[in-house]
Amino acid sequence: MEIIKSVEELQSVLSSHKKKKIGFVPTMGALHSGHIALVKKCIRENDISVCSIFVNPTQFNDKSDLKKYPRTLEHDASLLEEAKVDILFAPGVKDVYPKGQKKTVKVKLDGLDKKLEGAFRPGHFDGVVQVVHRLLDIVKPDKLYMGQKDFQQFTIIQKMIDNLKMKVDLVVCDIQRDYDGLALSSRNRRLTQSKRKWSNLIYMNLLRAKSLMKSESVDSVKKIALESLSLPPGFKPEYFSIIDGHTLEEVEDWKESNYLVALVAVWAGDVRLIDNMILKKVKSRSK
Ligand code: AMP
Repeated sequence: MEIIKSVEELQSVLSSHKKKKIGFVPTMGALHSGHIALVKKCIRENDISVCSIFVNPTQFNDKSDLKKYPRTLEHDASLLEEAKVDILFAPGVKDVYPKGQKKTVKVKLDGLDKKLEGAFRPGHFDGVVQVVHRLLDIVKPDKLYMGQKDFQQFTIIQKMIDNLKMKVDLVVCDIQRDYDGLALSSRNRRLTQSKRKWSNLIYMNLLRAKSLMKSESVDSVKKIALESLSLPPGFKPEYFSIIDGHTLEEVEDWKESNYLVALVAVWAGDVRLIDNMILKKVKSRSK
């Protein structure tokens, strides 16, 4: 595995692999098995695999969250080496955002960025779009790998790819979970023992939402989940929403959409956790 920090060096290495399929996994590090599942898929499906580690300051609306974000580059590098990734790209802020570079790419997101996470983390998706666009411009991969764990994020990135007619295929990978169902996240390591114990309630409520679809209304499923997620000490749900997976609009009835997703965000003490589950997805018949 090559560890590369500068844009110029990365581009010169990649240019020596012309005609080879490049797969790319962008991350913010503090890697866990969820990231590694993406990386392994990327290695399997491409000739050259690139994983980036960059804690992107522009997507943190809360500066203390940015400060507290775990940074474990040495350990991450050893996990990536073990997974047999070809290139670890670990740029600094000045490499990603050099002075004088036009900062923002304009993408019409039709309000996708203003709902759910966007409502609670203003500006977050501006930062995500900006950094993913910049990284794609640097790496120029054939395939981009992202996790379903960040449902709204991959939906917005797909919209950006479509709107800007970018030549990259987005591959979305399943959510990897811990032994009790808690979605793996770099933030989990900041949970206290008691908060960690109760955190499996998030997955339990997603499963329950799915099982209650036939017997309860959308409204009552949301109420049940919000009540349950408020019970453990220090837990505060921000939302438990049932949405159309294309538009991210809340639905009022199960029959309203063929692509239903439950999305949840909860504070467990000072750690904010998100998760989701696809409740229904009917493939549209193509001609
Ligand atoms: P992050 O480092 O949190 O920005 O995540 C980098 C990528 O890994 C994103 O595309 C995430 O959606 C994905 N990811 C994070 N957690 C998981 C998980 N538990 N399972 C699968 N993919 C994940």
